[in-house]
Amino acid sequence: MRGLLHIFLILFPFLVTSQKSQLIQHVTIVDGTGRKEFKGSVRIAGNQIVGIGKLKPYKNEKVIQGIGLTLAPGFIDSHSHHLNDVLEHPDAISTANQGVTTVVVGQDGESVPLITLISQMNKTPVAVNIASYTGQSSLREQVMGSNNLLRAATQAEIDRMKVLLKKDMENGSLGLSTGLEYESAFYSTRDEVLQLAKVAKESNGRYISHIRSEDITMSDALDEIIDIGRKVKLPVQISHIKLAKKGDWGKAQQIIELLEKARKEGIDITADVYPYNFWNSTPRVLFPKRDYTNLESSKFATQELFEPSESYLVKFAANKNYEGKTLSEIAKSRNETEPVALMKLIELSADFRKNNPTYSGTVEAIMGKSMQDEDVCKFIQWKHANICSDGNAGAHPRGYGSFTKILGKYVREEKALTLEEAIYKMTGLTAQHLGIKDRGTIASGMKADLVLFNPKTVKDNASIRDSHALSDGIEMVWVNGELIFKGKKSTGRRSGTLIKRINE
Ligand SMILES: [Zn+2]
Repeated sequence: MRGLLHIFLILFPFLVTSQKSQLIQHVTIVDGTGRKEFKGSVRIAGNQIVGIGKLKPYKNEKVIQGIGLTLAPGFIDSHSHHLNDVLEHPDAISTANQGVTTVVVGQDGESVPLITLISQMNKTPVAVNIASYTGQSSLREQVMGSNNLLRAATQAEIDRMKVLLKKDMENGSLGLSTGLEYESAFYSTRDEVLQLAKVAKESNGRYISHIRSEDITMSDALDEIIDIGRKVKLPVQISHIKLAKKGDWGKAQQIIELLEKARKEGIDITADVYPYNFWNSTPRVLFPKRDYTNLESSKFATQELFEPSESYLVKFAANKNYEGKTLSEIAKSRNETEPVALMKLIELSADFRKNNPTYSGTVEAIMGKSMQDEDVCKFIQWKHANICSDGNAGAHPRGYGSFTKILGKYVREEKALTLEEAIYKMTGLTAQHLGIKDRGTIASGMKADLVLFNPKTVKDNASIRDSHALSDGIEMVWVNGELIFKGKKSTGRRSGTLIKRINE
């Protein structure tokens, strides 16, 4: 199909010019396939790329001069929580400022039905593309009730979830997502997940998972996702791969070897990763056994699972004074040890929930410093890992800076990746991991999602202190052929579309 279009465009370029084409001229092109950068120009018309190479402007054609700048496919964020932000702020500055043109939502087991998403996007056009998985926890909530999730589902309930999932797949979902570490899914059995993954597979979908443990039982959790890939024979992806237990630090290479072994066996297992050594979640994940009142478990958490003096409470509805403080500071102010304070915070939040049953915001969130930079870097470098943000427009800087941090820190400063490798991990490889065929590379016939940036200056500025600071060096961003972002500002165009799974 793409080949035919390509021939058509070579034979009848004048037909394209009538579609008001634009030429991005004299740029360095990093095309998203991983191949070496080269100089040239790129022509876009309508929502497509229609030419690439040594191109001269047509008469009266709009020309964008890109001397000294690099043109890449728009970045694809394979694990994003930006949906609410993008719907509330359709200019999508949080993603566009880092060069992201597609966000993939419905992560960690939580999604809105595709049919709802479609009507939301019809009502509110947005500047970036959105694709979504179907979340297992959301299926559980619909079928079992949101207050009844701390148990395994019955077979009858699983059967009802399968029907809902099938419907969502038909509406364009990319596949099944799970957040097995969270209470809403933690008590589901492996068999439940397996049965649902089979439904995703029947529609040529995929499986993406925040695995059941990123710390004390991580090897079981890895075994589970590998087993699903083996038995269901669908592509499986580990969300935001990390080693979040101090005792496991330095073992990234071992994990990669385990995953490579599974790949040799024929299992299509991949991962995404974000470039930070701290996460953002509920403090309850620090109790892998869900025993929130066990002092020994809390001691273990403060010693092994996070660094209390570098971990900030970013949301705490029960006492706003604690927001922005580290757990160590809070413990000190309460005259408690860190383990006691950690348990107390969870208790205070539980009380808050009980007393405010209609409260719909986030009750508590902590940025937990749990990882080691060397492991983060190893995972970023893994051949089968693509870049994600795991972010939203919240307190964690990853929501505004993940992709530009890769280009500034990991490419230019540390040379941990070549520019071509990094772009591939943000575009072409990611599209493969999602089953998106018409985005992720610069070639004739591909959709015109593009980012023009300065490789010498590009960098993230978002930090814990200022998590919404915009990146430097992202000059222009196009989505479906329309310029949505220029000079750190929205252009007001809202050309994002819903990307549906291709059923082939
Ligand atoms: Zn997650």
